[in-house]
Amino acid sequence: MTRVETDFVPSKRDPRYDILFEPVQIGPVATKNRFYQVPHCNGMGHQFPSSMAEMRGIKAEGGWGVVCTEQVEIHHSSELTPVIEGRFWDDRDIPVMAKMCDKIHAHGGLAGIEPCYDGLHTANRYSREIPMTVSARPVSYREPIQARAMDLQDIRDVRRYHVEAAIRAKKAGFDIIYVYAGHDLSVISHFLSRRYNDRSDAYGGSLENRVRLYREILSDVKDAVGDRCAIATRFAVDELMGSAGLTSEGEGRDVVEMLAEYPDLWDVNVSDWDNDSMTSRFAQSGFQDSYVSFVKKVTSKPVVGVGRYTSPDAMVSLIKSGALDLIGAARPSIADPFLPKKVEEGRLEDIRECIGCNICVSADFHSVPLRCTQNPTMGEEWRKGWHPERIAKAHAEESVLIVGGGPSGLEAARALGQRGYHVTLADAASELGGRLNREGRLPGLGEWRRVIDYRKYQISQMANVDTYLESTLSADQLLEFGADHIVIATGAKWVSTGVGRALYAPIETDANAHVLTPDQLMDGAEASGPVVIYDDEHYYMGSVLAEKLRAEGHAVTLVTPAADVSTWTHNTLEQHRIQSRLMKMGVQIVPNHSVAACRKDHVSLTCGYTGQTYTLACETFVPVTMRLPDEALYLQAADIIAGRSDVPSLRKIGDCIAPGTIAAAVYSGHRYARELGEPASDGVPFRRELPALSAD
Ligand code: ADP
Ligand code: SF4
Repeated sequence: MTRVETDFVPSKRDPRYDILFEPVQIGPVATKNRFYQVPHCNGMGHQFPSSMAEMRGIKAEGGWGVVCTEQVEIHHSSELTPVIEGRFWDDRDIPVMAKMCDKIHAHGGLAGIEPCYDGLHTANRYSREIPMTVSARPVSYREPIQARAMDLQDIRDVRRYHVEAAIRAKKAGFDIIYVYAGHDLSVISHFLSRRYNDRSDAYGGSLENRVRLYREILSDVKDAVGDRCAIATRFAVDELMGSAGLTSEGEGRDVVEMLAEYPDLWDVNVSDWDNDSMTSRFAQSGFQDSYVSFVKKVTSKPVVGVGRYTSPDAMVSLIKSGALDLIGAARPSIADPFLPKKVEEGRLEDIRECIGCNICVSADFHSVPLRCTQNPTMGEEWRKGWHPERIAKAHAEESVLIVGGGPSGLEAARALGQRGYHVTLADAASELGGRLNREGRLPGLGEWRRVIDYRKYQISQMANVDTYLESTLSADQLLEFGADHIVIATGAKWVSTGVGRALYAPIETDANAHVLTPDQLMDGAEASGPVVIYDDEHYYMGSVLAEKLRAEGHAVTLVTPAADVSTWTHNTLEQHRIQSRLMKMGVQIVPNHSVAACRKDHVSLTCGYTGQTYTLACETFVPVTMRLPDEALYLQAADIIAGRSDVPSLRKIGDCIAPGTIAAAVYSGHRYARELGEPASDGVPFRRELPALSAD
């Protein structure tokens, strides 16, 4: 057994980061530092307001100088149901927002709100009002709903809605009030856009006319609340669509020049959301810098920008180079709400860096509380009382043996170690990380290794956690070890049968057919001849393997029963980029088909609509359909201890229970650690936010 040990030396803040802790004046208010949590969705909003308020408060506790809301609806004629955003339709919504402000103020942060009138981007499924926007158009959802063109009275009304929302926001206690023109979502951006705006009145035609509503709302809101509140604006300077949209060298820049001194703060980015929040598979930290760097040159007002910044050195150089005044963050603040505090306390190694996977975004699309691969406490702050940095002390002086150092085992070891248990983490492999060791080497997934890096470092600092590598444990050895608790985190393996969602029985396969599972490919097995990948899993694995094999020079066809490649990645804002990349690389895509048979030199495909079959040349067949838990060790140990009372507790966690996302495995490991020694509950294991019945 190889024991891993390192020494921990606590340190203080490095003076080169002092600049990040300087206050910045924003109109009538000042932030205590340059860490700025820009608006981000969270799937809690108006439906789970206590959860939302607690989560925002924890960001402020973690040192973010500014903490903003998500998009906040300002009128029932522009509502986003079933997507859960903030809601500020009338004064009855003030208490929820006031609660959030109080939580932020309690930690010395400024509270910002992003009111939004979405227009073209609303279907009004709940209110059933006819959506309205700059010109008559179908709403952006693929639904049989069209928005009507706003007349001049409508324009006056929308200006008024913004003012009324700003006055309510001021009453609720907000310090920074946005005028939102970002992400191709707000009516203001639709007026600006030549794509949508075909008006012939004073609000259409020239840029001066198209910018009119933006200018008016900025002025209206400033006049209404600018005495005490700073007026910020979020504006996408480039839509990454060339001459079809705004560009940072063309009209995007012109808009900033025209309105340069109107707001107290420019919050600038690129649009739309899948450009702004690109995953690490497609964009590195800081990819927006070149688009937004002109802004500070044309305004005297402070500028905030985003780019998945997690490195304080990168932040300092952005400030010193004059690119930004404030470091904006959504995802980095989700992955680590305490990032600023950790920089301040000189604990850079403790920063839980965002991996750019966009699991957080998927929660918003599913209208459920935010979750995060790196931060298992995200969304659980109120309902489970989970704090990202604090955890209850061990219930007793007890020991835990964890078998398997993948995401679930690593997180369980880290959190149990933090609680003070005596933890032994054993893994058969020569490195910690489990599935991430191999997946982190696939094209575009390198940053995912941060899930390992953070946890590996943390447990290396804990004298009460011992790590043993190259240690394959048998069930007998487990029990001989003498721990009070045994946790099996042995993960899962891909099946070779093709069974999954579309196929209930194994694919008929000849004995001489060459079938490789994703595990075998990741372990270095060689594909030969034309490769067919059959993806009935629909997340990243099928497309990433296609990319890898195509880059290695193979002819690759990706067959899927879905209508498009990696269809679940619509939820991570990646699907379009994935399919586009594969097609540009020359990967053939066969949607709406499953595989009926696998022979030595071909596969037979079946059309999901007509049932017609045809053959496709194939020398290597790669089924990507499902994984099965690697639970043999658990079952053997359970067998040995069955009926005995003098034995340790035995539990499975992570993929060994049921394979899922890395986020789910981390959550499972964390949950085990939180619940050890706690009384078991057979009721709902979290607090609920119940709807209130009206009096009548
Ligand atoms: P999860 O995603 O649930 O954390 P992983 O598949 O990433 O699971 O990790 C499982 C880990 O368990 C792998 O690193 C593997 O080497 C290890 N493992 C599996 N069986 C044994 C065993 N009998 N003894 C020690 N380690 C094991
Ligand atoms: Fe970052 Fe992924 Fe967490 Fe989102 S879910 S904050 S992208 S680590």
